[in-house]
Amino acid sequence: MITYKNHSEKLRLLKEGKLSLVENVQHFLSQIEERKNLNAFTFLFAEEALQKANEVEQKIISGSFGKLAGMVIAIKDVLAIKDKPLTCSSKILENFTSLYTATAVQKLLDEGAIIIGKTNCDEFAMGSSNENSAFGAVKNPVDETRVTGGSSGGSAAAVAAKLCDVSLGTDTGGSIRQPAAFCGIYGLKPTYGLVSRFGLTAFASSFDSIGPFANSVEDIALVLEVLAGHDKNDSTSINTEKKSYSNLIGDNKQKLKIGIPKEYFAEGLSPEIKEQIDLVIHKLKEMNFSVEEVSLPHTEFAIATYYILTTAEASSNLARFDGARYGYRSQQSSSLSKMYKASRSEGFGSEVKRRIMLGTYVLSSGYYDAYYKKAQQVRRRIKEDFVNAFSQVDVLLTPTTPTTAFKLGEKTTDPLEMYLSDIFTTSANLAGIPGINIPIAKDKNNLPIGLQLLANQFEEEKLLQIGTILEKEILTH
Ligand code: GLN
Repeated sequence: MITYKNHSEKLRLLKEGKLSLVENVQHFLSQIEERKNLNAFTFLFAEEALQKANEVEQKIISGSFGKLAGMVIAIKDVLAIKDKPLTCSSKILENFTSLYTATAVQKLLDEGAIIIGKTNCDEFAMGSSNENSAFGAVKNPVDETRVTGGSSGGSAAAVAAKLCDVSLGTDTGGSIRQPAAFCGIYGLKPTYGLVSRFGLTAFASSFDSIGPFANSVEDIALVLEVLAGHDKNDSTSINTEKKSYSNLIGDNKQKLKIGIPKEYFAEGLSPEIKEQIDLVIHKLKEMNFSVEEVSLPHTEFAIATYYILTTAEASSNLARFDGARYGYRSQQSSSLSKMYKASRSEGFGSEVKRRIMLGTYVLSSGYYDAYYKKAQQVRRRIKEDFVNAFSQVDVLLTPTTPTTAFKLGEKTTDPLEMYLSDIFTTSANLAGIPGINIPIAKDKNNLPIGLQLLANQFEEEKLLQIGTILEKEILTH
């Protein structure tokens, strides 16, 4: 099998006739079969993928093709693709088929991408380990006794194990960045509103973002360029200037200022992760980057605020799954209300139920002011911390996760412990800013260590620029 570093190299090989796209797709399909035990995919579209490979190959020969021509992509199973199953890894949607295609997926298809299948995830994207799936847990390709992280674990595993070129995930509180860190790949959560959510099953609508996983910064940039943009079907998608991220990544004329938020290096951070991040900081200083300490004083409230607000939104969003309108319906239905109750009790898994109950509680009239309203006020404070920080620096550099990938089953009995794995990622979603995971090293067990970069809203190019420097200049030397 011919290997390539990124899409531009793949496209060159395809144009020169040195790589057959059909064979390339066949190779991925056989790799998926070989690594079946990872449980990364829930549905495969083998025949269609091969057919599309043939079509795209012809287009490449004829000289008229899209930006992603021949890129083989896997899609997290919370995104709709017309006439394909959309389960959100939940029993409640086990037999549901989409009636339309999500804008993000359509944009990939329009540029010549090949969708190879759908990936496993935590049920309704709720989780940090991909153990909350009706299809079972996904295993980390680096060490199969460990979790991939969640909730986009299948998408991360598929890219890390080279079962496809790129995948899409979603990030409500870290579900792209955290599994990217655990699996040793790149993963970007864009600014809230940069990518249309039309066709994404909502978990927490004011937090959810769709973004790519890849093995290079260049591919992340290219896919982002295709995904970004206003969509009339999503009124929260923003009409901003279109940027050519793939051209901007190498633009390092202006030396970006890097901030190190001191609150992210406190107790609980693995010493090995801290050591590796310190090494990167040291190297950036040697390259004459200005690196200064900054403070995000409300960081300690992020997890509590995140879990109050996202569960509130989830309790409302998930009300539509009632056994009448979508998917699973319980057979024990002697009355309408019994049918609702039984369908939801049988159809949802325990983490989803926990969140619906918590969300309903924080929204209830007696507790609304104490929890939901308060959390909204704290959300504003957290956002202001970032506004202040970005008036001093361009990019913030932090660890992505407090530890490397933990063992399967290690945290399933303790939800609070599990929630703490998102300690460094949730703030970005509370503030709506973009973040990326950059794989920087391995720990003593050979498990990947990730570094997170955060930027101000709509400044993804800064993440990609520093990401490229880390990828090319620092990490390979
Ligand atoms: N792990 C976090 C949670 O369980 C984040 C999930 C996500 O980003 N979808 O809520």
